[in-house]
Amino acid sequence: MRAYGHESDGVTRIPHEAEYLIAAARKLLDEDATLGDVAEWMTKTAGPTVSGRPWAPTTLRRRLRNPAIAGLRRNADDELVSGVAEPLMERELFEAIDGYFKERERGQVPQRAYLLSCGIAMCDPCGSELVSRSSSKGARGYQCEADGCGKIWISAPPLDEYVSARALARLERPSTLQKLRKLRDDLQVAAEAAAKKVPELDKRKRELAAALGATSLTMEEYRLAKSSLDQTRKDVLAILRRAKYLDELPELTIEGLSDWWANTSGNEQRRALLQLVIREVRVEPATKRGSNKFDEQRFNIIYR
Ligand SMILES: [Zn+2]
Repeated sequence: MRAYGHESDGVTRIPHEAEYLIAAARKLLDEDATLGDVAEWMTKTAGPTVSGRPWAPTTLRRRLRNPAIAGLRRNADDELVSGVAEPLMERELFEAIDGYFKERERGQVPQRAYLLSCGIAMCDPCGSELVSRSSSKGARGYQCEADGCGKIWISAPPLDEYVSARALARLERPSTLQKLRKLRDDLQVAAEAAAKKVPELDKRKRELAAALGATSLTMEEYRLAKSSLDQTRKDVLAILRRAKYLDELPELTIEGLSDWWANTSGNEQRRALLQLVIREVRVEPATKRGSNKFDEQRFNIIYR
């Protein structure tokens, strides 16, 4: 998928889209409009994003903060230098809008998130999803709460940090990045199909209940059919959950990713990226009881 304002080569300017980005920046700077207002305005006047969705405030902010829109990039020292993309706006306007966002960021308290909840962190002994929990002392961790298991508790911050660093390092390889783009596009397609499937599954569930009521099904037949429907529904919802933040992902280039991770992304977006790259992180029980040392041997990252 291309970035708004540039062709898919990442270089060629699309003039009418450039005009909308300029107008959006001006609205924020000169008209005192909120980011939400301007995102709505974009959807109404410029049309949807390149992935065909309404503009989310974060999507718009991310695009407006990308130096590529001024034909620039950031070097390793975080200085703006010439990039390959054709500028969509003057450097002055870009710096003004970047400064505008920077000012609003100041004083924001970082959220304490669990990056690996929602189906990434798994209990190795029993295969259940680990849930995020704080201990009575306020330590944040992932825990297995499955009946008859409950064997796992692992501290969240070092695990989140370690897994994120590994995922980002992996993304620095062009081949992974290419695979990631394909994963993202495939997920987009799967999510569109899944969204259509949900009402269909709900309808079948109602029909099933009606059939049971009319006694054309035995209880056993009903249970079997229902559990298979429920499983399908669970799979479909899992796809939708993963796809929910696709629009929030950065442009999938090495520069774009690390800059986005460090400066722009929120926790939901970070989680979306991790979910795209990682199938699961299987956590084993601590080898020594009560040991709270971070032990890399305890988990296994499985990539998609
Ligand atoms: Zn377990």
